[in-house]
Amino acid sequence: MDTMLKTLSGRVMELGPLRNVAAEGNWRVAVDDNRVMWLALDRPGKAVNVIDRPVLEELNQLIDRIEAERPVAVVIRGAKSAGFAAGADINQFVGASVDEIRGMLGQGHIVLDRLAALLPPTIAIVHGHCLGGGLELALACKFRLAVPGASLGFPEVMLGLHPGLGGTFRATAVADPVEAMTIMLTGKSVDAKRARSMGLVDDVVEERHLQNAVQAVVSGVLRAPRKGMRTRAFSLGPARRFAASQMRKKAAETAPEAHYPAPYRLIDNWEKYGGDEDAMRKAELESFAELVETPTAQNLIRCFFLRETMRGLKTGKSGVSHVHVVGAGTMGGDIAAWAARQGFVVTLQDVQPEPIGRAMASAAKMLQATLKDPLKVRDALDRLVPDMKGLGLRDADIVIEAVPEKLDLKARIYADIEPKLKEGAILATNTSALPLEQLAEKLTDPSRFVGLHFFNPVSRMQLVEIVSHKAVAPETARRALDFAVELQRLPAPVQSAPGFLVNRALTPYMAEALLMVGEGIPKERIDARAEAFGMPMGPVELADRVGLDVAVEVSRSLTERLDTGFPPIPEWLENMVREGRLGVKTKGGLYEYDDGKPKKASLDSIADKAPDDPDLEDRLILPMLNALVASLREGVVSQEDIADGAMVFGTGFAPFRGGPLHYARQRGVGEIVTTMRRLEEKHGRRFAPDAGWESMQ
Ligand code: NAD
Repeated sequence: MDTMLKTLSGRVMELGPLRNVAAEGNWRVAVDDNRVMWLALDRPGKAVNVIDRPVLEELNQLIDRIEAERPVAVVIRGAKSAGFAAGADINQFVGASVDEIRGMLGQGHIVLDRLAALLPPTIAIVHGHCLGGGLELALACKFRLAVPGASLGFPEVMLGLHPGLGGTFRATAVADPVEAMTIMLTGKSVDAKRARSMGLVDDVVEERHLQNAVQAVVSGVLRAPRKGMRTRAFSLGPARRFAASQMRKKAAETAPEAHYPAPYRLIDNWEKYGGDEDAMRKAELESFAELVETPTAQNLIRCFFLRETMRGLKTGKSGVSHVHVVGAGTMGGDIAAWAARQGFVVTLQDVQPEPIGRAMASAAKMLQATLKDPLKVRDALDRLVPDMKGLGLRDADIVIEAVPEKLDLKARIYADIEPKLKEGAILATNTSALPLEQLAEKLTDPSRFVGLHFFNPVSRMQLVEIVSHKAVAPETARRALDFAVELQRLPAPVQSAPGFLVNRALTPYMAEALLMVGEGIPKERIDARAEAFGMPMGPVELADRVGLDVAVEVSRSLTERLDTGFPPIPEWLENMVREGRLGVKTKGGLYEYDDGKPKKASLDSIADKAPDDPDLEDRLILPMLNALVASLREGVVSQEDIADGAMVFGTGFAPFRGGPLHYARQRGVGEIVTTMRRLEEKHGRRFAPDAGWESMQ
């Protein structure tokens, strides 16, 4: 049994009398000399605690014991270094029916209500992650003490759900109700300090002072706070109605109700029943059970598992500690900053000083925004070293090349770099489209060469394509993949092929939209339909953001290399590129831009008679699916789940649809093939269904 348990932040955990006590089932239990009962959640054989049926059933028995033994107080904490508890066990929700969920949650509510009703003061001590069901367990205690470094939140909304174990009424009762609703609606966590200021926890206490804090509760020095002014104000219907309408507006900006019902059910429940615990409890249970069954929740849960699958591709350690990046432009600068953020030592090389200067400035911005803690920002910046002379090359475990997309330039750079690489170092390229076989041609040792295709912006796009080619050593590809996971990115292993996987699928989406613009269909209408389908950005705006020059070039190259039957680039578009109207980077493309935002005409202002196409949505979406099916058939990607994950995490493809191929299966493969044949007759060969659909039937 551990005698020295440490939290992830390195603090020794205060387990009081539990130090040498073994877990029985999921809990360790001990009573100290002051008759305080300590309970520590410690799921056997797991690195993190999750809340599931056995955890709650055993807690129920412990409550019997508390009622019988009457300790002077009860302390509940987690015995894992990662944190208190990461939430409910999501496996319980896969394919569950409304009735099953109702039954399961009903039981859970009984246990947490019993915990909340105990006479001795109950004190939850939370450290590390205290999320979802874990936070709901803590909220059923009378007091909550957070250890610095704790992170509290309700991520349920990301799974198309809202809290279901009493969180909706307990969080809004103990904390500022509007702030409590905000964290439930956004799924964003708050740190210990913020949790205290909003009333979610009663105090923030260092591990070494916890015993004293527990005694302060026992002796009545620390009392449960009275309800704040805001809680009282929002117990009135009109105040809640006003706040609820604001919340609905805000939710609609990012999550339309038709696709994401959970936030709206949460707002409805609070608006109707806020302040009335019993009514909220009933409403929470009912709407949670109904939400679990919705396709949105089941698909978002699927996306959660896709992420786990991709992370799970990691098989070992990359052995990388020093990263050298060549090219400090848009991508190289971001990759370098992100790697420094994740703890790697990074040297950043360019032929000019300006890009390095810009990269350092934007790294500081990104680090401040994502790390927040000034000490961590300083440490990450210390790890990021400008290196005009390329002195870091010889020591690096991986060199990532991110210079402009020109074959001869890259080849020249490799000729210079390769002799300087240390033994075992990986040479990686961030190329979006150049064939890796050609890039590898002149290398002395192509087995150490691999593609690491990051997406822009690196700090937000989670996907990295790990691109293999004929001569790559499996060990190189494995290490590159492990490195991507160590960078907290999601790897998709793919074979070198035109556009790899994601760009091959995404390019027809943009290119078809540009053809439609040529047909006179208003661009706002095209974008709006794609967004209504659930794409994060319409294809016309996307083309402007990628750059019309790049979009045209990629489209041309894919059409030639894959013989897709796509018509030649229209003359009007070639002219725009020639005239330098390239999109956001030139402040204008298909749209005009104001401070980076496109000026779009409102849909109401577009005349009904303006050209339209009843097949508009299918023309945009089906070629994307077709390209993925072709990639599977050709072995560019090995599994449907990886293709789906790559599109969700690399392009933001409608997560509530569970990925493009999952969408195809839900809609019906036969129906899609029939529709594509019809579109092929009408518009040409580019819509011909790939032979790969056969094996999906
Ligand atoms: P960029 O033009 O923004 O940056 C390239 C940098 O390389 C410039 O700072 C340039 O000074 C530097 N450079 C040129 N020659 C060099 C040399 N000999 N040694 C060191 N540095 C040199 O380009 P980018 O958009 O960052 O693209 C880089 C690569 O990443 C390309 O292969 C591109 O296809 C790929 N990529 C780009 C994106 C994107 O959205 N921009 C996304 C994924 C992949």
